Amino acid sequence: MRIARFSIDGNVAFGAVEGDKPDELVLDIIKGIPFADFELSGTKVPLSKVRLLPPVLPNKVVAFGRNYAEHARELGNEVPDAPFAFFKPATSVIGSGDEIQYPAFSEDLHHEAELAVVIGRMCREVPRERVKDVIFGYTCANDVTARDVQKREKQWARAKGFDTACPLGPWVETDLVPDDLTIQLTVNGEQRQLGRTSEMIHSIEDLIVNITEAMTLLPGDVILTGTPAGVGPLNVGDEVAVTIEGIGTLTNKVIKRG
Ligand code: MG
Repeated sequence: MRIARFSIDGNVAFGAVEGDKPDELVLDIIKGIPFADFELSGTKVPLSKVRLLPPVLPNKVVAFGRNYAEHARELGNEVPDAPFAFFKPATSVIGSGDEIQYPAFSEDLHHEAELAVVIGRMCREVPRERVKDVIFGYTCANDVTARDVQKREKQWARAKGFDTACPLGPWVETDLVPDDLTIQLTVNGEQRQLGRTSEMIHSIEDLIVNITEAMTLLPGDVILTGTPAGVGPLNVGDEVAVTIEGIGTLTNKVIKRG
């Protein structure tokens, strides 16, 4: 099931996305919240009539770096033996259709297309064989990065945590086997990144075991699984789109931060 979060007439709701043709998608409004028991209301609205919001409001976004060998090499980095994580704050999250605001303190903003895992239940010290049970679904992410600031500053809080640095969406797909999906990114319609989730160095199981050794994950928390090769610059006015097979397309325009 594809579950979107949206606003209509000033109200926020979750809905199940129905239909196949992009122009004819309909939302069946959900009664309750998708992380607990819920039912479909049968009340339907066209997707074109609503504003999509970030599909979840995470308590935290845990992002893993250098999880595709070719990407590690393109930036001149070693492939790490163990996964390593950093945070993107909740305030960096935006939805599909929202604008990425180019921060004034950077002159080298980059895109990073990533598969995002959405956590469905509170969990800690998750054993490998239970990882599937704590996953709610999957969405597309863009780990937008001020590359110059990342190189200059030891911690990446500003480089990767500024407002709008974490586009997520367009919705969460709950029925998906994520082992070998195409992940693609275009800028103004031109392909910049292309990879497959099967190229990850550390699997989704590895990543969730690794982070939950350290901390509790809450429903709605998001894990970013790393980006394939092909990262590169974004400029004001660009339209950047992340498409993952079986999920959909996350689209954002870059504007100057006002
Ligand atoms: Mg990344």
